[in-house]
Amino acid sequence: MIGSLQSAYPLDQVDDVDLKRLCEALWGWELCASCKGGQSCSGAKCAWERAPVFASYFAFYKDVTSAYVPELLYGDQPALRSHQDVADIIRLIKDRPDELRAQLTHQYFSQRPSKSPSSTDQHRAFNIVVKIMTMVNCSAEQQPSGILDLGTELGTQLIPWHNDASFSSFVSRAFPKGDVGALNVLDHAGKSRDIQSSITARRLEKIARLTFRGTEDLRNHLRLDSKNGVVEIYHYTSVLKEHLAIANSPFKNNIPAQVALEALHSLQMILFPFGTDSELKLRRLVAKQSLDPDCVNYDFVAYDEDFPYRHFGTRLMELYDEVESPSPRGIMEKWFERKSGARGLNPHEGGGHTSDLVLYLKHTSNPAIMDLHDLNVSYKRDTADIAFGPQEDDVFDFTLLFEQGILGILPSALFILVSIARTISLWQRETCVRAGRLLWAKLAAVTTLICFRIALVALWALPGTVGTQVSLTG
Ligand SMILES: [Zn+2]
Repeated sequence: MIGSLQSAYPLDQVDDVDLKRLCEALWGWELCASCKGGQSCSGAKCAWERAPVFASYFAFYKDVTSAYVPELLYGDQPALRSHQDVADIIRLIKDRPDELRAQLTHQYFSQRPSKSPSSTDQHRAFNIVVKIMTMVNCSAEQQPSGILDLGTELGTQLIPWHNDASFSSFVSRAFPKGDVGALNVLDHAGKSRDIQSSITARRLEKIARLTFRGTEDLRNHLRLDSKNGVVEIYHYTSVLKEHLAIANSPFKNNIPAQVALEALHSLQMILFPFGTDSELKLRRLVAKQSLDPDCVNYDFVAYDEDFPYRHFGTRLMELYDEVESPSPRGIMEKWFERKSGARGLNPHEGGGHTSDLVLYLKHTSNPAIMDLHDLNVSYKRDTADIAFGPQEDDVFDFTLLFEQGILGILPSALFILVSIARTISLWQRETCVRAGRLLWAKLAAVTTLICFRIALVALWALPGTVGTQVSLTG
């Protein structure tokens, strides 16, 4: 037995009563008398009738809460003793969004008749509640084990909710406002062009060779993993819709309405528009990756005509850049890119990268959302090529210096030496084979090879070609 507990996982069982309490606390659901009395729903004008839509979210809730392991010393009570505690903390945070985290935890845990849980356990409890409320993975200060607590997805950054910060300031830090506004770019003629139709899931897949992966962290929505060619999509649309439904009510929201609106719009109107191949793609993703089935319910249409983007616009611009000038994917394409010597030449579309780079930098003004990983990768490749190798650190490929030195110059030099020796030894001998068609075929092949080598020398000599110590430009 650990502390005063029967089980190491105090929240591993969830029933309908717990879930009803959760929905009341989160979204102010009005339940019927039987629901309130802990009985099965009578159905008469009861919000619980909508529960089937939230099956996916409830499964998420179960996952998050059942993984909670309290940190206990002998005789301690866990910070979350039951699901009632989860609902109570949600209510407390919602009632006092401007109070500091330290004040909230003190106020909540000091009321208990038993000894207060350890500070680590208190923080763990609040982080779990924040994840359920805002769909954001959060950590506290002095809590290095935060990643383990929440069963966090790989590659997810935890955003700290500091002790001396309020919940509302934490939410504004979690969802910083960018400056993109309308999703337009200037084309070559200087005309403004809407990018929305260019970045459907189908185009992202066909042209930019990107794939999609569901995420449960709303902050990761539309995040591009450039190295693996994966776009993350937040898929609990049922939760977003519920937050939007209460946006204008006096009941307090946990996710900013603009964030919910943009996440929903980008998913259903831009990436996977209704009645297109992309919609079928979304249906397949729902089936294959167990995304929330509600994301194919296209029943929410209340967008302004020129819907402005404040939070996820920069990421949409990045996807647009990826369609206009796709990064190489796969070993063959990466090889091709390296042989072409510059990022501008790619096997799909001939567009140069310079103008896109300007566009990219223009829209990368918010460091909280974006990082310049793409630029870093090209920089690393150019410098890595000058190293002797044989292999680069981050990609499966030989360095340019190794290719030119060991795979190019060395065998050629050996061949020249051996052929000289062979020519000398054959020079004095008597001819014993008659010249026929084969001779002419061989001579034609050799001439073609010589032409290719001359052309290659000319290409290597061009300015802008990546060079090493052993190449012409080195
Ligand atoms: Zn009911």
